[in-house]
Amino acid sequence: MNLVLLGPPGGGKGTQAKRLLEKFGLVQLSTGDMLRAAVASGSPIGKKAKAVMDAGQLVSDDIVIAIIDERLDQPDTKNGVIFDGFPRTVAQAEALDAMLVRKGRKLDHAIEVRVPDQLLIERITGRFSCAKCGAGYHDKFQKPKVAGVCDSCGSKEFIRRADDNAETVTKRLDAYHAQTAPLLPYYEKKGILNVVDGTQEIGQVTRALEAILSA
Ligand code: ADP
Ligand code: ADP
Ligand code: ZN
Repeated sequence: MNLVLLGPPGGGKGTQAKRLLEKFGLVQLSTGDMLRAAVASGSPIGKKAKAVMDAGQLVSDDIVIAIIDERLDQPDTKNGVIFDGFPRTVAQAEALDAMLVRKGRKLDHAIEVRVPDQLLIERITGRFSCAKCGAGYHDKFQKPKVAGVCDSCGSKEFIRRADDNAETVTKRLDAYHAQTAPLLPYYEKKGILNVVDGTQEIGQVTRALEAILSA
């Protein structure tokens, strides 16, 4: 099974992708995580992407398409993947379709995690994650059980993203509405679009997603 999780920055895509992986035997492919890894490693792609990401704009289609194309050739993706944060433009969606045909695979679901803009600033400015294992947290909505200690791995080191500030969030939301929202009718026409209410509690959103994937 292959699925695309669509939705605005801070909508809960990454949180939900991680919760679905085990149950459905899937691998999470987050272009945001891959690009941040490229930036951290100082690779040529990372050098190109950094300024664009810090400005809240989208990295070029060519770069992210190439990253995904290469990643899909690794054997752990064979059972199925959750695309998180990709595609983000109609050109990326078309490239993904062509790529999947070429690799003899298909998309089963595109699911929009719908959250109105006014909730997203608080979601994003309160976001942090474990520096060691990547587990995601929120200052108010998803605190570690023991303050300052990661639930999953016990690490005491946490990180916040450079682009998770109020100014950049506004630009990222503009990019979402202008460039990514057109994917909703794109997948609707293909008959694979579902919508879940992303304003619910994290566990409720997971149950809504599981219901779609188990149907
Ligand atoms: P995305 O991957 O769509 O950008 P995240 O999954 O990183 O979003 O979620 C953004 C922030 O909001 C994180 O700090 C996360 O803990 C929190 N969060 C995710 N889902 C919910 C929810 N349903 N209710 C409240 N906070 C949430
Ligand atoms: P969020 O879900 O909070 O928007 P991501 O981690 O998905 O964050 O993306 C962070 C940044 O990485 C984006 O603002 C953009 O600059 C870049 N990026 C990630 N995925 C893509 C993509 N598919 N196409 C273009 N740029 C991307
Ligand atoms: Zn951890």
